[in-house]
Amino acid sequence: MTALFTGSTAVLGLLIGSFLNVVVYRVPAGMSVARPASACPRCGHEIRGIDNVPVLSWLVLRGRCRDCSAPISVRYPAVELTTAVLFGVVALAFAPAGIGNGAAVGRVAVLSALLYLMAASVALALIDLDTHRLPNAIVLQAYAVLAVLLSGASVLTGDWGALVRAVVGLAGLGGVYLVLALAVPGGMGLGDVKLAGVLGFVLAYLGWGPLAVGASAAFLLGGTFSIVLLLSGRAGRRSGIPFGPWMLAGAWTGIFLGPTIWAAYLGALGLG
Ligand SMILES: [Zn+2]
Repeated sequence: MTALFTGSTAVLGLLIGSFLNVVVYRVPAGMSVARPASACPRCGHEIRGIDNVPVLSWLVLRGRCRDCSAPISVRYPAVELTTAVLFGVVALAFAPAGIGNGAAVGRVAVLSALLYLMAASVALALIDLDTHRLPNAIVLQAYAVLAVLLSGASVLTGDWGALVRAVVGLAGLGGVYLVLALAVPGGMGLGDVKLAGVLGFVLAYLGWGPLAVGASAAFLLGGTFSIVLLLSGRAGRRSGIPFGPWMLAGAWTGIFLGPTIWAAYLGALGLG
């Protein structure tokens, strides 16, 4: 059952990954993600359904357009595969044991929220790397979708404490990033502040451990990477490395490992 569920969620991830390729390309350009249909950027031929199967089509076509042989970036199947793996991991970690009662259905709502956040994370990380922006079209939608799903989860599970914690997490993490953005001009942007609110909301919904670990892991991962870049001479002090991908990687560290790391930390302090 677990294997079947994880597998189907991974296949869903493949399809979502294919859609995310469109999102990453079109949303920063202010284009509609619904139309027109995808076309080859060189010859303009519309991509046929048969050539739009995630990963497989790219392999069959050997990474080239069927009409003009223009190379198709390996990034497209890579994004599809990565999203599939990440969806599978989320399903494995958060699949409810059954859906026999309201509380279990509530956990399905939490799982849906995490899968949605994963899709948004993949899109936002790539867009931030490409354009150094975190588009409102995605971040503000994430507030709405996650608020609905996690409020629904609390209605079903009766766990209102989690929802109150989530709102505190939103204000807390968003507030920290707002102070950083104001204190260090040219460092954090307002996009980072808005994303911090989203991540604080979800992390705190899951618990204080995920919030504490998720928030600190972002700075740990991003800071380590910047130091490595500076030491290896690959980046000057002023080459703006986007922080969004580190916020997202940190948050997912908190989501997956937060409870374990937090318990170990409290234990080490003699508080566990
Ligand atoms: Zn072509």
